[in-house]
Amino acid sequence: MAGYDYDLFVIGGGSGGVRAARVAAALGKRVGIAEEYRYGGTCVIRGCVPKKLFVYASQFPEHFADAAGYGWTVPEASFDWPTLVANKDREIARLEAIYEKNVKGAGGETFHSRAMLVDPHVVHLLGEDLTVTANQILIATGGRPAPHPALPGHEHCIFSNEAFDIKRLPKAIMIEGGGYIAVEFANIFHGLGVDTTLVYRGKEILSRFDMDLRRTLHETMEKKGIKIVCHAVSEWVRKRPDGRLDALITGGRVLTVDQVMLAIGRIPNTENMGLEGVGIELGKTGAIVVDKYSRTNIDNIWAIGDVTNRVQLTPVAIHEAMCFIETAFKGNPTAPDHGTIPTAVFSQPEIGTVGLAEDEAVKRFSDIEIYRASFRPMRHTLSGRDEKMLMKLVVDGASKRVLGAHILGPDAGEMAQLLGIPLKAGLTKDDFDRTMAVHPTAAEELVTMYKPTYRVKDGQRVD
Ligand code: NDP
Repeated sequence: MAGYDYDLFVIGGGSGGVRAARVAAALGKRVGIAEEYRYGGTCVIRGCVPKKLFVYASQFPEHFADAAGYGWTVPEASFDWPTLVANKDREIARLEAIYEKNVKGAGGETFHSRAMLVDPHVVHLLGEDLTVTANQILIATGGRPAPHPALPGHEHCIFSNEAFDIKRLPKAIMIEGGGYIAVEFANIFHGLGVDTTLVYRGKEILSRFDMDLRRTLHETMEKKGIKIVCHAVSEWVRKRPDGRLDALITGGRVLTVDQVMLAIGRIPNTENMGLEGVGIELGKTGAIVVDKYSRTNIDNIWAIGDVTNRVQLTPVAIHEAMCFIETAFKGNPTAPDHGTIPTAVFSQPEIGTVGLAEDEAVKRFSDIEIYRASFRPMRHTLSGRDEKMLMKLVVDGASKRVLGAHILGPDAGEMAQLLGIPLKAGLTKDDFDRTMAVHPTAAEELVTMYKPTYRVKDGQRVD
């Protein structure tokens, strides 16, 4: 394709875009990539990575408290928010540099610029005032927090983007939403000593997860001191003369806090990129519509990751990037597999989950076996912490296939990663039973729950 400047031009330097650019360049393709903000994208710069660092930071008060039962005397601890933010910034700057270096190291060319599509094969780089041509174009511009223009006073609120860099740690915060971000940040802020209230419109937080975990996490968070108000939304937010905020929530209660954070979902970044001009089809939420191979309605233009709003998770974007490479450059059409995706919520305690929740399984299968264990993790015996771990397997009674595995407790995310393998492979409860336990661990419960705790037959629970 010598007629074009590049074999592949990627718009967006997040996890998906960088992976595609790096791998295509390593295959010897001429690759360019443009990123308008910082290489690494949401996950590295203002998402998963800094979030996990903040989770670690917020866990120390519990570690200090738990140490006493093990014989340690910990002097009174103090916390410095600017130190955490500065150290986090140093780490993400390091990762950002690695992301860009890896593309260059593979032979790709990186640009720091916003990119606009001018034509199906032409990209204009605004920051460089440069126009380039490419045979294939991949859009991987991700998403951003959904704004809430209908909320009077929304201009006083912050989103997850700002939460990573607020100048001063608030004394009190209200967080609106009941999904991953709201729940994770409620635990982070609470752990750092902030008076935290979570306001959620539904009946129970984390609507897409197993109800058992949702309820138990809710109770545990409340026991720690996080206030959770369900069936409520904020009706307005007003700035007070002292700079604090008043937020009116359903029921007429006014919360006075230093920050209001909105975490009500994320929307795709598809505006002002020339997509309409080129005729790329967009869906209802503004997401780019793609076929099963991540190809848009324009033959040589592809899209992966959050901008397509299929599953908003970093590993999914990376997987879609690898499938795109197979399809576009290796003559091996490969559709991303979005089934049975393990995932974690870095709440405290953590959630790790893969496969069907009990409620979903019951709708699809007439005979479900539930294996459930709730126990105090060994670590909390001497620490005295009154926190339970929950493990649950959802099994199809007819085939014995394990349909779902759900964990609440320490290291649940790590366990979900490993459970993703047997569930993806379609293994049965008998395979779990034949597996030797690792002792003493919490995870051994997963292979030692021999009898169903209860069954659900045709939607009816049978004990
Ligand atoms: P989620 O979709 O997880 O949650 C959005 C929440 O906001 C839901 O509780 C939803 O309620 C509520 N909501 C939506 N609209 C409104 C509204 N108008 N008013 C009040 N509440 C509203 O989105 P997040 O923003 O938490 O996270 C975005 C995505 O990022 C996640 O879906 C996830 O894929 C990804 N992510 C993954 C993480 C991880 O892997 N650990 C961590 C953080 C983010 P309802 O339930 O009723 O719809």
